[in-house]
Amino acid sequence: MNLLDKSRSIKNHDITASDNLESYLKTIKKKNPKINAFLEIKEDEAAQKAEKVDARIKKGEKVGKLAGLTIGIKSNINIEDFIISAASKTLENYVGSYNATVIKRIEAEDGIILGTTNMDEFAAGSSTETSYFGPADNPAAPGRIPGGSSGGSAAVIAAEMCDLSLGSDTGGSIRNPASHCGVMGFKSTYGVVSRQGLLDLAMSLEQIGPFARDAGGIALMLDSIAGYDPMECTTIKEIPNFHEITQNSQDVMKGMKLGVVKEFFDVSDNRIVNIIEESIDKMTDMGAEVVELNFKHLDLCIPTYYLINYVEFFSATRKYDGRKYGYRIEEVCGEEVLRRIHIGSYISQKEYSGKYYKKALQARSLIRREITGLLDGVDALISPTVPKLPHKLGESLNTMDMYAYDVLTVIANLAGIPAGSMKAGEVNGIPVGLQIQGKPLDDAKIMGMMAGLEEIQ
Ligand code: GLN
Repeated sequence: MNLLDKSRSIKNHDITASDNLESYLKTIKKKNPKINAFLEIKEDEAAQKAEKVDARIKKGEKVGKLAGLTIGIKSNINIEDFIISAASKTLENYVGSYNATVIKRIEAEDGIILGTTNMDEFAAGSSTETSYFGPADNPAAPGRIPGGSSGGSAAVIAAEMCDLSLGSDTGGSIRNPASHCGVMGFKSTYGVVSRQGLLDLAMSLEQIGPFARDAGGIALMLDSIAGYDPMECTTIKEIPNFHEITQNSQDVMKGMKLGVVKEFFDVSDNRIVNIIEESIDKMTDMGAEVVELNFKHLDLCIPTYYLINYVEFFSATRKYDGRKYGYRIEEVCGEEVLRRIHIGSYISQKEYSGKYYKKALQARSLIRREITGLLDGVDALISPTVPKLPHKLGESLNTMDMYAYDVLTVIANLAGIPAGSMKAGEVNGIPVGLQIQGKPLDDAKIMGMMAGLEEIQ
């Protein structure tokens, strides 16, 4: 059953929120020990909330958009009374003392928060292998990485351990694991979803966003969490309307101009390219038109993204000095986090910042101008989400090979534009994701396209 039908069934009392939760708890008990996607769950609290929702529905009271749906949250988003570790030993004993804005909004819509999900330490990674609590497995391709850094949030959706989940996307951390696990993920235009209560990796790049098994689920979650937040200065007032998207028809593609950037395909595995090209053919059958484009600065994207990430992350980690949060980060963190702190510290110094950081900011402007220029002439850009297939758990990759997973996702973060990923096909059973990127505030248009494409798959 798709998520919107399920939501209606709960509201009509055809299914109860308690039964819905119960069946997920069974799956979690069976699958989570191996998949390691949920880090902490609070089943008693969740059961009480489900009962309350059911009682209100029975009485005929009005309930919220997410009423009775079971939700997983990446463990870098503050939830009161949960351990918010960001999968780091640094914060292994840190208990959330407040609810982030997105959590308050989910609760206001009667969603049931069940637990926190596994991730790369401080969201710095693309594989969920750097978690202090051990890697998560990929439910769609067992024995392979689920992607990252929100690998647990993608895996709980792929393994059907809950209805919806939240991740954070700084350079692809929602879209990358969505692609590898064969589910949907969405990063909105910068400022559409409040980051208040998120443990930052790099604040100028990131957004919190949803994972779901279908487009209706993504739209419902965004409709619930998006919006201006007086507590968070980067949120914007003009918010796309996700409400109307959900009942879509194939007509959305009629007359759409799809930008196909040659360089995005040149860097991708041929088997992935073939699958994305098949999807593009389907979209043209539905009435869309392809416009071939070129992006000149693809080789600048990874270095620009990582330099900015290092500097902002270094600054964000200064509060983990051992006084308020238990451990001093440098003493307990893993190798990748330490690398970012060291390089970030070095290039933040006055004498080096001109050489590296300022150059990175200039390159960021160039990348933003180039991508928005390409988007000017089309409705959206279609490409693979990730250029290569997920590697096997335990295989060791060098740093640059790990960073290479991000080449097609970081552009949307550098430019602040909306982007979604959905499953387009499989290579030997391994899911392949298709990415749709759009103009700032065209989030609803991208969502509509995802819904349209989903119908013919
Ligand atoms: N893989 C990228 C990185 O390591 C993206 C991470 C993210 O989006 N949180 O920084």
